[in-house]
Amino acid sequence: MKVTRATFDEVMVPNYNPAGMVPVRGEGSRVWDQDGAEYIDFAGGIAVNVLGHCHPELVGVLQDQGSKLWHLSNVFTNEPAMRLAAKLTDATFADKVYFANSGAEANEAALKLARRFALDKHGEDKNQIIAFNKGFHGRTFFTVTVGGQAAYSDGFGPKPGAVDHCDYNDLAAFEALISDKTCAVMMEPLQGEGGIIPPDADFVRGVRELCDKHNALLIFDEVQSGVGRTGHLYAYMGLGVTPDILTTAKSLGGGFPIGAMLTTTEIAAHLKPGTHGSTYGGNPLACAVAEKALDIVNTPEVMEGVLKKEALFRELLEEINNKYHVFSEVRGKGMLLGCALSDDYQGRARDFLMASAEENLMCLIAGANVVRFAPSLIIPDEDIKEGLARFERAVARVVNAK
Ligand SMILES: *Cc1c(COP(=O)(O)O)cnc(C)c1O
Repeated sequence: MKVTRATFDEVMVPNYNPAGMVPVRGEGSRVWDQDGAEYIDFAGGIAVNVLGHCHPELVGVLQDQGSKLWHLSNVFTNEPAMRLAAKLTDATFADKVYFANSGAEANEAALKLARRFALDKHGEDKNQIIAFNKGFHGRTFFTVTVGGQAAYSDGFGPKPGAVDHCDYNDLAAFEALISDKTCAVMMEPLQGEGGIIPPDADFVRGVRELCDKHNALLIFDEVQSGVGRTGHLYAYMGLGVTPDILTTAKSLGGGFPIGAMLTTTEIAAHLKPGTHGSTYGGNPLACAVAEKALDIVNTPEVMEGVLKKEALFRELLEEINNKYHVFSEVRGKGMLLGCALSDDYQGRARDFLMASAEENLMCLIAGANVVRFAPSLIIPDEDIKEGLARFERAVARVVNAK
């Protein structure tokens, strides 16, 4: 059966509007489409393909596990899930892990756990959840309500209640909002979808202190920032602030869907048998691949490589900007970078995305004013150089079309 991009419009629910080309094969940071055209991948499946496409060791473990055991459900446990949980707890502040299948599900578990913990310990009045404007936490109704973007959460009827927002990096506004009724605070330690917005160090420390003062749990959503992307295994490690609950997904499976919620023994104890669950969560195929991805990423070579590659990106982007003056700044950390557009190009991130596609480069946007790069953590330097040469041509297209 022959399918083309036109088939998408015939048979798919129209909530997505994918690019014109249809990829069929990937290797490292290169992708080929149905017509054999080759692309450089700076999108990384939205910060997921942490080791590029079809990394031989991930393919190996997928094939190996695929001929042993695929799925059981949580009526039984399995070896890959327990090994992955042991490695995640060894590598982080956490003692316990809950597995899910996506970022939204990991966050849903975190929010439900925080509510249950507060109910058990402090009673039903302690139920407020605070999150930040421009935050993104997923698309289930609870997580999208906690996310700070009305465009995503409105238009679906009554929302889950007791969720409040204030501006990121505004400690005074946060201090005015938090109280003894606050059950939890959910934040990204580097806002991704909202525009690659790094936190001020004082802000994160202040949020932690105020959470402690009011007995509120601090939940770090590291679905996008986690698994080596910032040059630390988790971004909190570079901020000197430890959360009570951490969620991770995207890069965790290197392309195989998996999410996880990490927390302490004391907090975890409140999700007693029967309180929460998932049919697929902790599936052996997903956990086997994630275990291998974590083994490879959590090494000094890969982490140091991320920072070297960031420096190369920044140097070459600065050269482009010196010629074309299209960015006001390049921000973010490691292999999660955003080019914020200058005043003359406000609202035109999509134009840069489309021009990049014309130049056989896959990239992302983060809102209307930021071009985002979230490539493989081990993207070869040659691919960074060739990709940015293509990006420069794309920038020239946008500038000249003005
Ligand atoms: C992508 C993302 C999510 C949602 O993850 P899904 O796997 O799409 O459900 C949640 N939080 C952050 C910070 C994200 O970037």
